[in-house]
Amino acid sequence: MHTSLDRIRKDIEALSAFNSSPGEGLTRFSLTKADRGAREYLRGELDELGLKVYEDSAGSIFGRMEGTDSDAPVIMIGSHFDSVKNGGNFDGPAGVVMGLEIMRVLKEKKIKTKYPIEFVGMIEEEGGRFGAGVFGSRSMAGKVKYEDLKKNKDKDGISMAEAFEAFGFDPHKIDESARKSEDLKAFIELHIEQGPVLERENTDFGLVDFIVGISEFRVKMIGRPDHAGTTPMLLRKDALGAASEFISELGNYAVEAGQGTVATVGVLDVRPGAANIVPGEVEFTVDIRSKKIGCMDAVRSAVEEKLKEVSQKRGVSFEIEDLLKVDPVTMDTEILSLLKKNALKEGFSHKVMTSGAGHDAMIMAEITPTGLVFVPSRDGRSHCPEEWTDYEDLQKGIEVICHTIIELGEAE
Ligand SMILES: [Zn+2]
Repeated sequence: MHTSLDRIRKDIEALSAFNSSPGEGLTRFSLTKADRGAREYLRGELDELGLKVYEDSAGSIFGRMEGTDSDAPVIMIGSHFDSVKNGGNFDGPAGVVMGLEIMRVLKEKKIKTKYPIEFVGMIEEEGGRFGAGVFGSRSMAGKVKYEDLKKNKDKDGISMAEAFEAFGFDPHKIDESARKSEDLKAFIELHIEQGPVLERENTDFGLVDFIVGISEFRVKMIGRPDHAGTTPMLLRKDALGAASEFISELGNYAVEAGQGTVATVGVLDVRPGAANIVPGEVEFTVDIRSKKIGCMDAVRSAVEEKLKEVSQKRGVSFEIEDLLKVDPVTMDTEILSLLKKNALKEGFSHKVMTSGAGHDAMIMAEITPTGLVFVPSRDGRSHCPEEWTDYEDLQKGIEVICHTIIELGEAE
């Protein structure tokens, strides 16, 4: 192996010390004391490698190793170093440590690549403090404006613009964090799976082909509230009766659409909500996720058809309000096959899988060819203190990216 298990463990443990909720999982919100600590640790490690260390105007950290071709676009590796409230030690840092360890290997083995390689540690991916998720990558993609920094506030009413200033960044320069597509060759992220599949299948790591698209909408079914004792069954306009007939079918539409499509009702509000009143109004959310737009659309039309059918049958009406629509994102097929090839060469087992959650990779894919590697999560747990990935598993994921970077970077 090129990589060192000891160094990987040491990094994860060191980063986990920068935590504002010791004893209750890891909390590292952006632009806080815990952020400062992690930032200084990372800067120190990058400095020691003699890299060009800098922060962009969005507050993400970079460590750049020049390539032999000074005009060549950069290959970026890393993830985010913020966390959710009371989370774990791996969501984010696993990928940050990947970037750091690969920079060490390149230095240690005196590997010279044609393309420059940059470590990146991004901030505010979780949106834990300011609710501004995937912030570091969105800034690089040129999607963040000064006005957004004034709008995004933490629970104490401190805006991101104010926090930036207090931390020593100039919020007016946020535009400067944008990267041009032509200056980038690739981005590769490593992240914990946050699901149970890899562990259950005893697979070393996952190679992501798609990050799912999301279609989320709210359905309101309107019937009539009536006395639950005196209104005969056939004369009712029971909004919940109609809704439940629909909800019990929803899962089948996802299965029929195929390609691992999933559909969920996660919120259900029954009004007026009394034991002795026929429900007059019901509101629920529908969340459809798939790697194929066609599958999402198929579920959506099945949903609308079924809603019409049950409404007619039950004498109720319905309204749909769209909440969120995100298209599926494709990971770069060339990077994916390089990762596959190197996994085989190193004797690691892998599974090509779809990511059901969004990551910085989802945003970076808009500006550069992107790859995403998942390492196993114990019991599928994440965003909690129990979050865990065995260091040996993490090392395998890092190792395969390391070999891929050497190849992609056209090492001499
Ligand atoms: Zn994450």
